[in-house]
Amino acid sequence: MPIRILDPQVAAKIAAGEVVERPASAVKELAENALDAGATRITIETQAGGLQLIRVTDDGQGIPVLDLELALERHATSKIARETDLDALATLGFRGEALPSVAAVSRLTLTSRARGEEQGAYVRATGGVLERKGAAGCPEGTVVTVQDIFTNVPARRKFLRSEAAEAGRIHRVVAHLALAYPGVRFQLIQNGKETFLSPGDGDLRRVLAQVYDDATADGMLEAQGDDGEGRSVYGYISPPGIHRANRSAISHFVNRRWVLSPMLVQAVEEAYRGLLMEGRHPLVCLHLELPPAEVDANVHPTKQEVRFQKEGAVFSLVQRALRGVLVAQSPVPSVAAAALPALPPFISGPFSTQPGQPFAPRVQSGRQVEFALGLAPTQGPPQPGQAEAAPQPGAMPLPDALPALRVLGQAGATYIIAEGPQGVYLIDQHAAHERVRYEQVQRQVKERQPDVQGLLEPLPVELSPAQVQALDEWKDMVAAFGFQGEPFGERSYLLRGVPGDLRDAGPQALLSEALDLLARAVDPVRAADALAASIACHSAVRAGDLLSHQEMTTLVRQLEGTQSPHTCPHGRPTMLHLSATHLEREFGRR
Ligand code: ADP
Ligand code: MG
Repeated sequence: MPIRILDPQVAAKIAAGEVVERPASAVKELAENALDAGATRITIETQAGGLQLIRVTDDGQGIPVLDLELALERHATSKIARETDLDALATLGFRGEALPSVAAVSRLTLTSRARGEEQGAYVRATGGVLERKGAAGCPEGTVVTVQDIFTNVPARRKFLRSEAAEAGRIHRVVAHLALAYPGVRFQLIQNGKETFLSPGDGDLRRVLAQVYDDATADGMLEAQGDDGEGRSVYGYISPPGIHRANRSAISHFVNRRWVLSPMLVQAVEEAYRGLLMEGRHPLVCLHLELPPAEVDANVHPTKQEVRFQKEGAVFSLVQRALRGVLVAQSPVPSVAAAALPALPPFISGPFSTQPGQPFAPRVQSGRQVEFALGLAPTQGPPQPGQAEAAPQPGAMPLPDALPALRVLGQAGATYIIAEGPQGVYLIDQHAAHERVRYEQVQRQVKERQPDVQGLLEPLPVELSPAQVQALDEWKDMVAAFGFQGEPFGERSYLLRGVPGDLRDAGPQALLSEALDLLARAVDPVRAADALAASIACHSAVRAGDLLSHQEMTTLVRQLEGTQSPHTCPHGRPTMLHLSATHLEREFGRR
């Protein structure tokens, strides 16, 4: 084919793909336009995950009648005029691309009445081609209606996930806009039901209560900092006792723009270092105010990535502000865990609220521990001889298998010391048991025999809208893992049974964590893995549990029988090996 300039409509469709990847990106662009127009109330209605309908109504300054048509033109913007304006952006939009991009892939109606004008007007375009325009009786402000998005781009449509998943993404986008603008009242109505409403009174904590729940929001700590050079940070962060299995509850806003920045996430995790168990993540909502000239938002089509001119200054501002609050709130564990990164910190694990008690063993009754190790009471304790016996040949058809180990004892109520043909092993009892439970849970799910622990009385669990959607989308998987119950009203669930053998999490917390994981899951395989890992984690023996010799032997036998005995489901090592040769060398015997 000879080179030629693309037909404008084709070019528009291609460009549209970069800005509006999915319905949620259209919602984001339209709501940002409303914010740029100074709106204080923004209502977003969607049908079928936005695929059928997206309507964004605002009470902003509106668009003058004469400009309406122009607003649908590419690179038409009222927000910047010259290149140097890019150096200090004060608005969310600046490229003049969103409206034409959305219009190129949908049927779009733009209705607006500018402040102070007598009458409004509308324009309608299909596939980017203007079809109709005229006068409209409407209140001051703007309404953008987008119908049948992507129906003229089948390739794009194919890549979208279920309606429920798209609805979930829209929910997430709106929640983040509300967190970014606590002074604006955001209302989201999905399939005719209100799924989110922020008060719009300027109080960030009250928005957090809508995104999570009242108790979580009340428990969060206020953080703020200022480096005296024009950079400041403000927001709410969870105390060490509240945490999640993933980073989905860590949000950063830079000059009111929701950004995804690995550097900022790292600054946060640095602040929590030693206060949270590995693999657990805090809830964080931080607003950074930086000199606009130090932030480049013009890096990526969706503007979610930004470039910081002074990365180091921003990193330490965040890290210090958070660390200060956290340290004031809870003493740092006295063991120098940070100096020994290979070892898990000696602080208590998930769902505990008391860090800072190194080596304080939680004495458990032997029965409880036995139970957790999966020793059925009827099976009786293993016979002394049997415990030491090598596993049956054929019982370990594994490339990665462990040699038969002999348990010598327990250190720090946390590590099992064992001996094998090639030296000495230190086994992290929690990580090892997690691995065992992880494979057990997966097996049970595969055999459709989840281990369920019925609750004596059904427990109502309050769910966030994102959790409601995750539950809806993944209900079969939730059931397959042993959660039993039924929806109970709009935003709660009546829990009747949970996966068996829970040790450290309440049933509600387990469900809540499971739904958070599912809300983030991208495919069923990873979703199932994450669920199995979470259940395994909460049913495994803990660091600090005193174990009897028999319990340790049973655990080591079970570990020998797993597919991947060397790592826990999160990828951390289950054991350290001191080889016989290494010991000989260290002791100068060689
Ligand atoms: P950008 O936001 O980058 O300027 P858009 O394509 O999103 O580009 O919008 C084009 C122009 O249309 C904006 O610059 C603004 O003048 C006008 N506009 C769009 N939406 C609204 C709205 N909700 N209220 C007022 N003006 C709007
Ligand atoms: Mg815009």
